[in-house]
Amino acid sequence: MFPTLPGVCPWCEQSVTTLRGHGLNAQFGGRSFKAVAYICPNPMCQKVLGCEMDPIALKTYIVNEVSEQILEQLKDPLHASLSRLLR
Ligand SMILES: [Zn+2]
Repeated sequence: MFPTLPGVCPWCEQSVTTLRGHGLNAQFGGRSFKAVAYICPNPMCQKVLGCEMDPIALKTYIVNEVSEQILEQLKDPLHASLSRLLR
């Protein structure tokens, strides 16, 4: 690959105004994550332009982790009494 203009596919050199997302599993450090690959919308190209952790799955994971931590804190009698004082 070589440097190209922003918004232009480096493979087919067509303007990229939308991306197609393709869900996949990623393996990293012995763990599996939901990921998404961003595909060039040009039907004659369809090369992968980038990939990352699935942002929707990542948001859900963070919300669940924070919720579980808050619930764990509320099970602790000291934290539970403090949280009642803060209401
Ligand atoms: Zn392309």
